[in-house]
Amino acid sequence: MRFCSLGSGSTGNAWLVESGATRVLVDCGIGPERLGARLLRAGVEPSSIAAILVTHEHDDHVGGAAAFARRHSIPVHATYGTLQGAGSALAGVERLLELAPSGSLSIGDLEVLPVAVPHDAREPVQYVLGDGHVRLGVMTDLGSITPHVVSSFSGLDALVLEANHDEDMLRQGPYPRFLKERVGGRYGHLSNAVAARLLSAVANDRLQHVVAAHLSLKNNTEALARQAFAAALGCSESWIAVASDEGLDWREVVSAR
Ligand SMILES: [Zn+2]
Ligand SMILES: [Zn+2]
Repeated sequence: MRFCSLGSGSTGNAWLVESGATRVLVDCGIGPERLGARLLRAGVEPSSIAAILVTHEHDDHVGGAAAFARRHSIPVHATYGTLQGAGSALAGVERLLELAPSGSLSIGDLEVLPVAVPHDAREPVQYVLGDGHVRLGVMTDLGSITPHVVSSFSGLDALVLEANHDEDMLRQGPYPRFLKERVGGRYGHLSNAVAARLLSAVANDRLQHVVAAHLSLKNNTEALARQAFAAALGCSESWIAVASDEGLDWREVVSAR
C-alpha cells in the first residue's frame, strides 16, 4: 500500500491511497486546476481513481469533488448527513453512494472502515483503509478524543493525524473570538497537544509512518507539530512527516508478511 497527499489544511484536502490496482481519493477539496497538476505530480491518471470517499461536507474536503467526479465518472461515497450537508456542492454527480457510518466497505483491493468523529458537521467520519496486510488511518477534522476513535485507530501501520493548532498561538492569534472558540472547541479541530495525547494512545510498534496534517497556516508551525508528535512517540522530530498545503509525496506502507 502507498499513500500521498495532494494538499492538506484549510486551503483544500485530498489523500490518494493505493493498493494493488485500486486507487481511491479520501476527500477532494481542491479545485480542478490545482488538483490536475498535483495528480500529474503524483503520476496518477484521474480516470484510474475508483472512488472518492468524503469525510464531511466542509468545503476544504468536498469543494472539488463534484467537478472531478463528473468529469471522470467516479463514484462518491459519503454518509447520509454529509450528502445532505453538501447539498449543491455534490450536484450532478452520477453515482452518489450513501455510506453507513459503521461497517466496512470493499472497493477493489481496499477495505474501507468509516469512523464517526466529533466535528461540527452533519455526520462526519474519518477512515481506516486496509488491504489485508497493512492498515492506514486518515484522521483530520475532529475536536476531541472518543473511546471509539482510540479503538478504531489502534494497531495501525501508518497514521495521518490532524495537528491543527498550537493552543497558545490560537489564543493569541488573529482569529475573531467566535472562530477561536469553534476551532478550539470539542467539535472543532485537534491542537498539537491533544493530537499528541491521541497519538500516545494509539501508538504501536508497527507504525511505519506518522504524518501531521491539516495544520493551520495562522495558528501553527510545522516545527511545533513535529515537536509534539516526536515527544509523544519518543522518536526524533525528523521521523515525523508533515503534509502541508502543498501536500506530501508518496509513502510506502510495507507489509511485514
Ligand atoms: Zn478541514
Ligand atoms: Zn471540517
